[in-house]
Parts: sequence; C-alpha cells; structure tokens
Amino acid sequence: MSDSFDSYVRSARLYFESAGKRPSAYVHTYGCQQNVSDGEKLKGILAAMGYEFTSDTADADLILLNTCAVRENAEDKVFGNVGALKKLKEHNRSLIIAVGGCMTQQRHIADKLRASFPLVDIIFGTNAARELPRLIYEKLTQNTGGTYLDGGEEISEDIPVLREDKIKAYVPIMYGCNNFCTYCIVPYVRKRERSRLPKAVYDEVKELIADGYKEIMLLGQNVNSYGKEHGVSFAALLKMLDDIDGEYKLTFMTSHPKDCTHELIDTIADSRHIEHHIHLPVQCGSDRILKAMNRNYTVESYTALAEYAKARIPDLSLTTDIIVGFPGETYEDFSKTLELMKKIRFDMAYTFIYSRREGTKAALLPDPVSDKEKGAWMRELLEVQGEIGLQNYQRYIGGTFEVLCSGRDKNKPEYLTGHSRQSIITRFTGPDDCIGKFVKVKITGAMPWAVEGELIQ
Ligand code: SF4
Repeated sequence: MSDSFDSYVRSARLYFESAGKRPSAYVHTYGCQQNVSDGEKLKGILAAMGYEFTSDTADADLILLNTCAVRENAEDKVFGNVGALKKLKEHNRSLIIAVGGCMTQQRHIADKLRASFPLVDIIFGTNAARELPRLIYEKLTQNTGGTYLDGGEEISEDIPVLREDKIKAYVPIMYGCNNFCTYCIVPYVRKRERSRLPKAVYDEVKELIADGYKEIMLLGQNVNSYGKEHGVSFAALLKMLDDIDGEYKLTFMTSHPKDCTHELIDTIADSRHIEHHIHLPVQCGSDRILKAMNRNYTVESYTALAEYAKARIPDLSLTTDIIVGFPGETYEDFSKTLELMKKIRFDMAYTFIYSRREGTKAALLPDPVSDKEKGAWMRELLEVQGEIGLQNYQRYIGGTFEVLCSGRDKNKPEYLTGHSRQSIITRFTGPDDCIGKFVKVKITGAMPWAVEGELIQ
C-alpha cells in the first residue's frame, strides 16, 4: 500500500481502537461482476481500517453504496435508496453515508446527489478507492466529507480484497474501454483501457487456486483486447493460466466480437480448465444499426466467427446480448435480429430494451419508436429465443455434465445448483457436501434457461 493510503488506513484503525469501538459497515453493490469485484476491494479497504460488516443498515456506522450506471432504472433505484436513508441519518447524526462507483463518476449525477441529498457525506468515483480511507478519516475527525472523482488511470496492485464467495473468485485483468459503442457510458466512467501485468494476474490466480477456489472469473469490459501494452494477447494469458495445475475452471467476461480471434477460440478448444462457453454480445442483426452502434463488425463477420467457434468446440455454449429498439431501429432491422437468432441458435440471450444514457452519442439520436412497440418486439424476441434455448438444452438429455456445485437453488432449495463446463445452469438433488465440488450429473430434463438431472454417485 502507498504511504498516504497506508497511513490513512492505519490512522482510522487507531482512531477506532482509541475510541474503544469496532465500527460496522453496510456495503451494497449494484450492477455487473466488475462492480462486484470493485465492491470486494472497497470491503477489503474498510476491513483494513477496522470495520466489520452488517447486513442491516440500522446497525451501521457507515453505509456505502457502490453504484452502477449502465441502466437508467439502476440510477433511479440508487436515488430512491439514498432518499430512504434520511430517517436513519436523522436518528444517528454520526452515521457516514458514502456513494461511489460508475454512477457518481458522472459529474452531473454527483452534482445532483450533492444538491438533492445533503445527507450524503462522501461521493467518490470509479478509480478513487485509494482516497476512501482519507475521505472517511477526515469525515470522522474533521466532519468534512467531500467529493472525489479524479482518481487517475493507474492500476493499484496493493488494495486488499475481501472476497464475497468461497468458491468463485473474480479477478480483474483490465480496466476501462476504448470502444465507445454509441449507447454505452462505460468509456466515460471507467476511462481508457489498461491491462494488469500478466505476472500480477498469474500470481493472483495461482494463489486463489492454492487457496481452494474452484472458479476463477477473469474480468474486463473487453477481455479480448487484454495486454496490448504488454505484448501479451488474451489467448496467451489464458494459456499461461490454464497451465497451472489444480482442480478449477477458468471463465471470463466480456468478449467483443471485433477482438475475438481464432487464436482465442483454439486456446479454449485445446484447454484443460477453460469453460466451453463464449459470451459474445452481438447486440443486433442489422448492419445498419451495428454501424450506428459503432460496433465495428458486420453480421457476416460475426456469423463466420460463431461458426468457427462451434466447429472448433463441438460442445460450445454460445450466449449473447441483444439491445431491442436502438434509436432509428425499424421493424425491418429488428426482424434481421430474429433471423440471426434463428441462424446462430444461441443457448441464451440477455435481452434489453434500449436505455438512453445521458452523455452518450446515441442519446442525441431521434428515437421515434414507442416503448409499447419496443415491448412488443421484445416479447417476439423472447418467444423465439425461448424455443431455441429449450431445443438446444434438450439435446443434452441422457448425457452427463461435470458441474461445479455452487449451492442450493434460491427459489427451490430442495435442489442444488451449479454450472456445467459449458456454463449451463444445472440443478439436481443431492447432499450439501456437493457444494464447492465438481460433481457428475446425468441430465434428465431441460428448460429454456437450464437443465436438470440426477447426481451420479
Ligand atoms: S465494448 Fe462497447 S458496450 Fe462494452 S464496455 Fe466498451 S463501449 Fe461499452
């Protein structure tokens, strides 16, 4: 840890020790895996400062909301949740409320938060975790608080991490994005692409495997463009990690079709530990709209890539993201998306109605199609994908999956659940001691989003 970061962590710890109290923090993270990983660092910092954690806001001395900016409704939710803390703050004037992450990195949101919610003491941006100990310490000792959005773009390797899960570990390999897809706020809030050194990633992954983690998920906004500044491709990094001995699987998020190479697909095909799953967001099946989205690939090049991947990895599970109703999209464009879905036959599609993000280029485009019409398109898409997903999964009935069991199904606790090597959700009945282990499951049934089966003893 750097001197200043380190000294504020130490000062806060001494402050609490001399006050004779163990403070308690409530931390809530919204959004994607990258944000969950950021949240684990924020918790690591707080733990180093002396905080323990609570799941009840009423017991907390510090409430920290780690926000997400990807969808507008996520923002509305955060504003609602901040407003709901007013009573707690009135009852406990020493309660510290901090809001950080992608949403607050946008200056207009930080200003709005500051103006509308004076109860918020600390506002910080996406690369400002190193400033958190100082901001909290100053609030504790001088009652100042503040806003800090100017964290640089350097990568900090020395921030402690408090992992949420004992089976799956998130490992960020790069930060930021250079792509500027016209609908996306990420390059504005997470800044330019920069990759961790291969050795730093390798050492962390090796340690996690030695500690017993069974799934290592590598994270980046566009992992396929990892390592340009180090002269090491993402495929080369994966090969290095795959060579580590142990019982584990490697997964990664997210790929960009324009940077997904045959070298990467070959590496997955020939690996021992990499999941046979590629999440390759296509977003739309119309070249005209892909151009307006600034995606830098065509339907033809995407299809060729998908066909290569399926031929090279016969049990590959291919999943995607689709945006419905991008500004200027017509029903004709949308019907090309349906055609593409039928041609590629994705195992799963994460579908979103276009959500306008202020500050992006797409937000300036005319968007004449009504929400009602976009909703009807979406229903059509879900129906098509539901049938394809079900048919795809039915082909596994009678076969056997190796499943990493992650726990009991939240909605149906009589079932255990986990993901297969193809990342297909698999539920089955069995004892709790399967949790955290790779087990064999004979597949007996399929649903559009998962399969179910019987544990093979
Ligand atoms: S690749 Fe596009 S969608 Fe993904 S984070 Fe970068 S700009 Fe956003």
